[in-house]
Amino acid sequence: MDCLFCKIIAGEIPSTKIYENEWVYAFADIDPKAPFHAIIVPKKHIVSAADITAENSGLIAKIFEAVAQIAREQNLEKGFRVVNNCGEEGGQTVSHIHFHLLARRNLAWPPG
Ligand code: 5GP
Ligand code: ZN
Repeated sequence: MDCLFCKIIAGEIPSTKIYENEWVYAFADIDPKAPFHAIIVPKKHIVSAADITAENSGLIAKIFEAVAQIAREQNLEKGFRVVNNCGEEGGQTVSHIHFHLLARRNLAWPPG
C-alpha cells in the first residue's frame, strides 16, 4: 500500500521513534509545530477519524493509553495537546489516521 505512515511503521522510511508497542507507533514530526511534537499512529492502516467503527475503536483507546505513557516518559506534567486533523477541510495531509501530541509551549485556544 502506498501509505507514508505505513512505510514509516515498517521501517522502510526512517523516523525518530518516541514510543512503540504492539498496536501503536509514535515518532517525531519532521516539521515540528511545538518544541515537543510527536505523531502517534495505529500500526493498522485506518484512513481517518471518519472511518472509526465499533470494530476498530479499541485502537483509539490504545492511542490514548500511549499518549498518557509518553507524557509520563517525556515529563509533560505541565500539559499537552492532542490533535487529530480529519479530511481536507480538517487539514489532514496523510491518509493514515494520526494524532499530534504537542507540548512544551503555551498552546493558544481556540487554535487558528
Ligand atoms: P496532518 O497535516 O495530516 O495532520 O499531519 C501530517 C504530519 O506529518 C505533519 O505534521 C508533517 O509534518 C508530518 N510528516 C509528513 N511527512 C513526514 C515524514 O516523512 N516524516 C515525519 N516524521 N513526519 C512527516
Ligand atoms: Zn497507512
